[in-house]
Amino acid sequence: MKLVFATGNKGKLREAQEILGPGFELLTPADLGITDELPETAFDIKDNSIQKAEALYSICRVDCFADDTGLEVDALGGAPGAHAARFAVDIARRDGLQLPPDHDFSANIDALLRELQKHPGEPRTARFRSVVTLIIGGSMQFFEGVMEGQIATARSGSGGFGYDPVFIADEHPECSVAELPDEEKNRISHRGKALRAMALWLQENGHE
Ligand code: IMP
Repeated sequence: MKLVFATGNKGKLREAQEILGPGFELLTPADLGITDELPETAFDIKDNSIQKAEALYSICRVDCFADDTGLEVDALGGAPGAHAARFAVDIARRDGLQLPPDHDFSANIDALLRELQKHPGEPRTARFRSVVTLIIGGSMQFFEGVMEGQIATARSGSGGFGYDPVFIADEHPECSVAELPDEEKNRISHRGKALRAMALWLQENGHE
């Protein structure tokens, strides 16, 4: 089936296509000629996910879904949470420093490692949480997935995207998520779990 995925993130699109498999043809807003950035201004990931899906649906009126992901780090009181994409900006603003661009993966990792250095001896436990909002036939469904793990003290690996080089999943304590084969990341990841739940729901509800 054809679905529009409300993302401009090539890493997310690649993973979603691999997770959902050949039975799904994923299009992006860019494929439909939509160039406006979708809003993502809410305080939690579910509201952000709804905001992106609704904004896309209001423009294209076709079946679509959005994913929003947060990174919750226990020693930082759950930060960056829904602000994971702009963590370095938040920290620079707090500290009165020059602002890096939003969505700068490398600056975000640097900010995270620096903030955790201020909590020596504390557990580095963390989790990714994704909420997928599906709009199908004009009505909305939600799916969630979580991946538990720890934040490493330094980067390793070049696969995946975002915070993967510093995230050690509980299922693979021997390496970072960026060192896992794609299929293995997708098997254990927050996004893999949420999107497989969506695929199952679609199948059980007669949307092939
Ligand atoms: P968003 O869902 O695009 O808002 O993602 C928030 C932030 O988390 C961005 O900086 C992403 O790069 C990062 N992120 C989202 N999913 C993953 C993932 O699977 N691995 C690592 N980082 C991720």
